[in-house]
This record gives sequence, structure tokens and C-alpha cells, in this order.
Amino acid sequence: MTDWLDRLVELETEINYRTPPPPGEPEFYHRAGRRPLLISAPHGAAHTRAGRIKDEEDYTAGMAFLLAELTGAHALAAVALSSTDPNWAANAPYKFRLAELVHRHRIRFVLDLHGAAAYRDFGIAIGTLHGRSCPPGVILQVLHGHGFGEEATWLSRLDVDETFPGTGADGQETITRFCAETLHVKAAQLEVNAYLRVVRRRPLAAERNPFDGEPEHIRRTVAALADLVEQLIRTRWSFPPGTGIPRQPPA
Ligand SMILES: [Zn+2]
Repeated sequence: MTDWLDRLVELETEINYRTPPPPGEPEFYHRAGRRPLLISAPHGAAHTRAGRIKDEEDYTAGMAFLLAELTGAHALAAVALSSTDPNWAANAPYKFRLAELVHRHRIRFVLDLHGAAAYRDFGIAIGTLHGRSCPPGVILQVLHGHGFGEEATWLSRLDVDETFPGTGADGQETITRFCAETLHVKAAQLEVNAYLRVVRRRPLAAERNPFDGEPEHIRRTVAALADLVEQLIRTRWSFPPGTGIPRQPPA
């Protein structure tokens, strides 16, 4: 059996961090699943906000595709330089695609993956709009089972709705808010520390310094998130799936 880390590197190699897609091709890719949960990674490649290019959050797209392979969930992730920031702009093409997928596949939960810098004082930061996009308890219970905790130290520490609650800044519509408020589907944002996801930084990454994550921590993170996907699929949520009305793309 292929080691998760090898597979993660393989999947991540397909991502074009800094080049736009070929003409007519989308900036993101949907890996079809058979279960009603979608793993999203809108910042898997570099993206554009207010005319400025923001660096990719490397290994979040690879992680989304790996988790989809392991669980049968759907994945939607950036695979090339984006002309918008899907975690900011209300009219990002990524969001239209997400709305369509949530509707068509009766998705009940969207897990939105992001990458936090290595210096952050947490392993994973959970954002649930302070409980409005989903009750954080379900997520905490699963992650506690894998050695993560609010009182744990550094890479095992969980930050809950503090540093990145998913609410966004002024004028920002995060994926989590879009899911909760427009699509009426449960959602959570997970910011994963670089040590927990970056197997080895690729030469074309924006960050020039060589960087290797912690293999044992990455394996533990993959196991924990795969478990989390299972648990979120099994949880009975209070409102029916995919009730949101997808937005119409701009003409
Ligand atoms: Zn991000």
C-alpha cells in the first residue's frame, strides 16, 4: 500500500501554484465522490485579491484530494492560479461551482481547508462562525481522539473560533459564511499548520526556503481528518441537505 505521505506528494505535484489554467480550463477541479460531504481547498494555488497575488497554501489541495480518496467524499480544490479569491469575493467562479455541487449531490457538510504558517501557535484552527455554521463539539470530539486538544501544546493545540472563526473581514465572504448563509449547508473552516500538511515544499512554491513538515504529525492529521469526514457524514443535522438556491453566474 502506498504511504499517505507519498500519495500526498503525488497529488500535490499536479497543482500549478503560480500559472493560470490553459484557456477554457477552470482554475479548480472537482473530484467526484459518492458521499454527501465536500472537502474544499480554495487556496491550494495562488489567488488574486484586490489586484494582488496572494501565495498558495500548499498541500491543502493535495490534502483535499487525498481525504476524498480515503473517504469517498467529494473534493473541490484550486489547481491553478486564480484570478479571484474564492474565500473573499462573493462572485468568485469557485463559489458558483460549489453551489452547483452542493445542490446536485445533496451535500450536507462542506469542510473548507486552509493552510496556516508554521510559526502559528496551533496545529489546527477551527472556524464555525462561533457555532453558527456548525456546532464545534462534533469536530472537537473527533480531534480529541487523535491527541489534539484546546489545552495541548503547539502542533497538537486546537484553536476554536479564536484566530480564524471564518467570519471574515469587512467586505469578505468566506466559503464557510457562503455555505452557512447562502447555501444553508453545514460548514467549518480548518486552518492547518504547515508542519501538519507540507511533506516537502516544492521548488516552485512562493516560499523560497526549503521546508519539511513533521511526517508523524502529517500522518496523524490525515487520519484525524479522514475520521472527521466519516463522523460529519454520520451526524444527523437539523436541516435538510442542499436546500440553498445556487446563485446565477454573472452573464
Ligand atoms: Zn486560505
